[in-house]
Amino acid sequence: LKPPVFDYVCPHSLEQALDLLEQYGDGAKLIAGGQSLMPALNFRLAYPEILIDLNEIASLQNIRVDDDGTVVAGAMNRHRFFETDPMIRERLPLLSYALPFVAHVQIRNRGTIGGSLCHADPAAEWPALCLVSDAEVVMAGKTGTRTVGMEEFSLGLFTTALQPNEILAGIRFPPRASRQSWGFQEIARRRGDFAIAGATCTVDRDESGKCTSARLVIFGATDRAVLLDAAVEPLLGRVPTARDMNEAGRLARSLIPARADHHASAEYRSELIEVLTCRALQQAFSSEG
Ligand SMILES: Cc1cc2nc3c(=O)[nH]c(=O)nc-3n(C[C@H](O)[C@H](O)[C@H](O)COP(=O)(O)OP(=O)(O)OC[C@H]3O[C@@H](n4cnc5c(N)ncnc54)[C@H](O)[C@@H]3O)c2cc1C
Repeated sequence: LKPPVFDYVCPHSLEQALDLLEQYGDGAKLIAGGQSLMPALNFRLAYPEILIDLNEIASLQNIRVDDDGTVVAGAMNRHRFFETDPMIRERLPLLSYALPFVAHVQIRNRGTIGGSLCHADPAAEWPALCLVSDAEVVMAGKTGTRTVGMEEFSLGLFTTALQPNEILAGIRFPPRASRQSWGFQEIARRRGDFAIAGATCTVDRDESGKCTSARLVIFGATDRAVLLDAAVEPLLGRVPTARDMNEAGRLARSLIPARADHHASAEYRSELIEVLTCRALQQAFSSEG
């Protein structure tokens, strides 16, 4: 399989890339790690006139920790970086734990957080991880930047709030509370495949072990990752029992209509929502944080 013919340009600054985007309009396509785009070109699902390569833009590869503990990652940071970097492991351990579930190491060496968020595959891990982490995305345009939460960014199947003349510049992860723990569970047919469905959560507890806040995200089951806080609300103010967590799973299942496709029926995905929610909560509440 070979891609259609295209021109190629490799700008060295975000400003140059935005100028090129404006100049070529619909004829341009940005390329980051190429791990979703190149297969799409090879299958002739897209016919760009020109590819604008983001790989030489240093500002998109930066990563920094702000004074308040917010981790600000440039969009071109690779999956493998989040999996292996000691600072990420310390500050955002859920990411280090979950990234090995994304594809295979060769793909993780090239694929980027920005590329995954912009591609917006409903079964991808990154949108769910950013949503459960309450992360914000920063989009750059010719007139400046705008920052939105993940719920506002993800609009549906392969669709985001990014405008055609914008580039996803970075992602802001707020600091995690000191006693926060997390769970991440997914079912895929084979290791490295996209998830048929998955659940991830974060929980905060006070000194007596009572749950003070919780976030739950389901992915792969509908057209995008969805935040289901209503399913974990009954756990607040309690030291949840196994029964409470089973109940949260049942509630999660009742809150979203699962999709069917050639990988799984809606009924099977609904079952996974319930089981994986329960397992993710058990994982979170059984960990020290
Ligand atoms: C065999 C295989 C298995 C995979 N399995 C998984 C999996 O299990 N889970 C998973 O989540 N992913 C999986 N992937 C996809 C992989 O994670 C990709 O890396 C990711 O989806 C896209 O990232 P990328 O950097 O390669 O983006 P690219 O492929 O370069 O780009 C993807 C899209 O995003 C746009 N884009 C990229 N960066 C920007 C930006 N900064 N601003 C605006 N638009 C941008 C591009 O124009 C393009 O439309 C798999 C891929 C392969 C080939």
